[in-house]
Amino acid sequence: MSEQHPRIKREKKTIDKMAHIYCKAHHGTKGDKLCPDCTEFLEYAFMRLDKCPFQEEKSTCGKCLVHCYQPQMREKAKVIMRYSGPRMLLHSPGLALHHVFDGRKKPLTLKELKEKKAKKSS
Ligand SMILES: [Zn+2]
Repeated sequence: MSEQHPRIKREKKTIDKMAHIYCKAHHGTKGDKLCPDCTEFLEYAFMRLDKCPFQEEKSTCGKCLVHCYQPQMREKAKVIMRYSGPRMLLHSPGLALHHVFDGRKKPLTLKELKEKKAKKSS
């Protein structure tokens, strides 16, 4: 875990916060708890981030050109983001701001990522 790029860690924190905001409002969970459904979603999202080929080159998941989520999880992500996205500004302005900046990074295609990496190592 510790070798993970701050970019990915931040994305995890953001999605974790968003899932909590959404779950609290829609499923009546309290404190740090998530309902089984949202827990499953969050674990899935973390797993995808661990496997994300972009890592530090990553834009935000919403802008990514590689759709790595399975359709069902993608739908859930959309619903959670739509609800929690605007509310993040109230709950965690710092994280929300970072997310806006991260989202400004141009999303790369896998081909562009390869070219970029090849350039770096040569
Ligand atoms: Zn929930």
